[in-house]
This record gives sequence, structure tokens and C-alpha cells, in this order.
Amino acid sequence: MGKRIEGKCKLCGQVKPLTFEHVPPESAFNSLPVREIPFEESIKLMTGEDGRLPWDMEGLKGKLNQRGGGGYFLCSDCNSNTGSWYISEYVRLVRTLHEVISNLNPNTNDRCYFEVEKLHPLQIFKAIMTMFCDINNGCFGDESLREFLLNKESNVFNKEKYSVYLYLTKGPMVRINSLAAICRSDVGIVIQSEISRYPVGAVLYIDKPKALTPLGLDITQFADCKYSDECNVSFYGIPLLEINTQFPDDYRSKDEIVKGIELSQKEKTLEEN
Ligand SMILES: [Zn+2]
Repeated sequence: MGKRIEGKCKLCGQVKPLTFEHVPPESAFNSLPVREIPFEESIKLMTGEDGRLPWDMEGLKGKLNQRGGGGYFLCSDCNSNTGSWYISEYVRLVRTLHEVISNLNPNTNDRCYFEVEKLHPLQIFKAIMTMFCDINNGCFGDESLREFLLNKESNVFNKEKYSVYLYLTKGPMVRINSLAAICRSDVGIVIQSEISRYPVGAVLYIDKPKALTPLGLDITQFADCKYSDECNVSFYGIPLLEINTQFPDDYRSKDEIVKGIELSQKEKTLEEN
């Protein structure tokens, strides 16, 4: 018998028994056991404590989740509805992107140009927004977003407030970040959440500063399609980015990170002398 967990469904908002949901979907390369590192331990990865590099998880405490990454986010109705309405189409896209990466074998920061035939853009967009509501503990207090996801046909989506960008990634690091506000000297405050797991990463921006040009490909216009619309979708210019840390907005290569650490150590030694 599985354990019974009751709580507030992140989508419909009702208090009900919740069912386990994979984020990203299980058949989108999320079926292998994952080690869930508690926050105190993950700090060691972020601070480089005891000379640890950000991708070196060896010896960290954490329990193994045999099922893959996910959690108890949705009630069984919302889980099965979003699964059949949106997630199956998202899985199809992810599997196609896996083939694209295998065929093109792009390098870090390369931009790729390809077209995927017969996609249902609105379904894919709603799958991604559902995952962002899952990991952010609800629909950001936004009733219209809740309605957009609960009514599969709805096109009422606030594109002024929310925007979603996609990029390709080769893994193996997974980065699932709930909303964080990053203060950037060039564009100001950036509020973003990210779900990144081979072969694709998605970043949600809330009230994205006009001056910010994200690295990924903007797919927010997918929200304008009708539920049953089937289109050939161009992914022109989608970049391949590297994920080596748990920091939001950090797409540095391992080389760049090591050089950055060496530089800061050098500066520290200079200060001390
Ligand atoms: Zn629900």
C-alpha cells in the first residue's frame, strides 16, 4: 500500500488526497532514482565548502527517491487530467528533442535550428505551466492562471506577466528551482523559476524586465494556439546550455567555474597579504 497524503492540490486548490507526480514526467527521462539532497547539504555545493566543486555530490547526505524526481503536488483528478490533456504531448516533444540532440550533437552555447512537425503548442505550454505551479506551491495566487490550466480549451493567459523560454541541455545535472529574485546590475530585478533536466530546460519569468534578453527561445506565443491546433513548430536558434550548479541563471561551463574559483582564491590571498 502506498502512503496516503492529504493536502491542498496546487492546481484546483481543494484539500484532497494527493497523488505522486513526476516532474518532469516519468517518460521524459525522469524514471531513474534521484538523490534528494537536503538544503543544508546543498549549501556545501553552492559555497564550495571543503574545496568541493558545484557538481561534486559524492558523500553528500540525502535520501534516494527510487521513483525519480517529483512529489505530491496534485489531487488524482488534476493529475490524470493534466496527464492526458497536456503531459503526453510534452513527453512527445521531449523525446523528439532527445533525437535532435543525438543527431546534431551540438556543443555548449551552439544555437540549433530545426522544425518539429505536428505539435500541439498549447498542450505543451500548459504542461510546462502546470509543472511550474507544482514546484511553486500553486498558481502564484493568480485565479486566471488556475482557470487557464483547469480548462483545457482556455486561451486566457497573461503574456504581459508571464513568459517562458526553452533551451536544450545535455545533463546530467538536474536543476529544479522555485521562484527566486535575482538582482542584476544591468537589468534590475529578475524573478524566475527553472525546470532543467536532460534534454530540455524551461525558465519562467514573472514581470520580466524589458531590457532582459534571456538566452533561451521564447515560447510564450504557444499560449495563443487552440487546444487542438496541430502545427509544424520552428525551434530556430534554441541554444544548448550547460548546467553545472544549482544557482539560478548560471550557465557557466565547468572550465569557467573552475577559473572563477581560482580567481577569487587569488584575490583572497592578495587581500590577506
Ligand atoms: Zn486538484
